[in-house]
Amino acid sequence: MYNSFVEPLIKIENVSLIYDKGKPNETKALADINAEIYPSEYIVFFGPSGCGKSTLLYVIAAMQTPTTGRIIVDGREISKVGEKGITDYRQNSIGMVFQQYNLIASLSVIDNVSVPQIFKSVKPKDREPKAQALLDRFGIGAFSRRLPSELSGGQQQRVSIARSLINNTPIILADEPTGNLDSKSAQNVTDILQELNEKDKKAIILVTHDPNQLQYAHRVFHMKDGKIVRQTINPQRPQRMDAQAKEKITKTLSGGISSALVDVLSVYPELTESRLKSKAVVNYLLSELDTQQIDRLERLVEDRILGKISKEDFGAALDDPIEKGGAGLNYQSAKKIDASVETLLSETDIIQKDIEDVGTDPNALNAVTKEIETQIIDVLSSALSDEQMTRLTDAIKKRISNELDRDGFFHTLDLAVSHGGVGLRKEIAKDAARRMEILLIKFKDFTD
Ligand code: ADP
Ligand code: MG
Repeated sequence: MYNSFVEPLIKIENVSLIYDKGKPNETKALADINAEIYPSEYIVFFGPSGCGKSTLLYVIAAMQTPTTGRIIVDGREISKVGEKGITDYRQNSIGMVFQQYNLIASLSVIDNVSVPQIFKSVKPKDREPKAQALLDRFGIGAFSRRLPSELSGGQQQRVSIARSLINNTPIILADEPTGNLDSKSAQNVTDILQELNEKDKKAIILVTHDPNQLQYAHRVFHMKDGKIVRQTINPQRPQRMDAQAKEKITKTLSGGISSALVDVLSVYPELTESRLKSKAVVNYLLSELDTQQIDRLERLVEDRILGKISKEDFGAALDDPIEKGGAGLNYQSAKKIDASVETLLSETDIIQKDIEDVGTDPNALNAVTKEIETQIIDVLSSALSDEQMTRLTDAIKKRISNELDRDGFFHTLDLAVSHGGVGLRKEIAKDAARRMEILLIKFKDFTD
């Protein structure tokens, strides 16, 4: 973790950009954008086509000059560093990944990866092993002497990611990097970016209109018509900002549970209602807890929302230690949260319903299975293959109809794919099985 007073890595201050200024086709692409990005953050700028995402990325990359405002990276104002300074900035601070890969068709894969080093006059004997190592890392080492056109889209995008990394810069800018890819290649690229953030501690700034990308971000800036209209903090990822920055940002987030709910909904469009609501409440209330506490608290809040525990039990569980099934909060926080949750619950009747209706639906089993699946997938750390998904669906159906008991369900999840199981890691299978039992209680009316 960082100490307090970590300076933002990138400050975007009052940035506006007008294309074709003064002409009839004048376009205001960016209108007074402000954002601060901290070291090693995974940031997504999210918005519809034409809202200014690419323009903003180009401004950050010093490939476009803003009409007004400034970009400060590592304390240096980019527009003030001069031509040499800009070259230095592009070479040593940022790497870029584009939707169209932007590889040079006539150069071999390894030379494409090396291009940023060639501009730095690094000798072939120094740059080639580096390029090869990156290609190896992304599973395309065998293709280094081929031309880009001989590779699939997903492979070409991995080449372009390797190129963005060759100068070992702290910032990676990515413009719709999965926009041209089939879903499997897209997931692969997404996993790589996630790993670069987690393991290599790169700051990732990704712009996209794809809501599936939001779950990986620490924070999301929502854009519309050249403006940032909202910012959300992802409660599922431990934040990289220091406490002060977080407090500052949390204060600027639009207040109130309803807007917190809208924010969470935009980050987790697939969540079930009660889970969504609990996440929103927890997200709204918390900033200082570790992930285990947040997880526990979400579950408690969810139980409270579903009416499975009383106000009294809920209050008591908040300051019970984690080992005893509580949220492990200190007395003060527990009191505060307890009071807020009860107020908020009474204020928010927004979305509590639909689950009870499931029993009358002719496709009820499928509906319940789907719902449970969504919730279980929510606790998995990586995507499942089609085969694993089929097995999971099957196991859930069997558990609902009692063909599998609790242990049998766990073993099916835990068992290797080659042995007919879902092939989850043991702890994950355990967590998913536990969640399955909770969900069964929730769906009891139906399954009885
Ligand atoms: P996004 O990446 O979110 O789709 P862009 O940044 O590409 O959005 O575009 C924002 C707005 O600026 C759009 O209205 C687009 O038509 C316009 N625009 C983008 N690039 C140029 C350009 N080079 N010249 C003129 N207008 C442009
Ligand atoms: Mg774009």
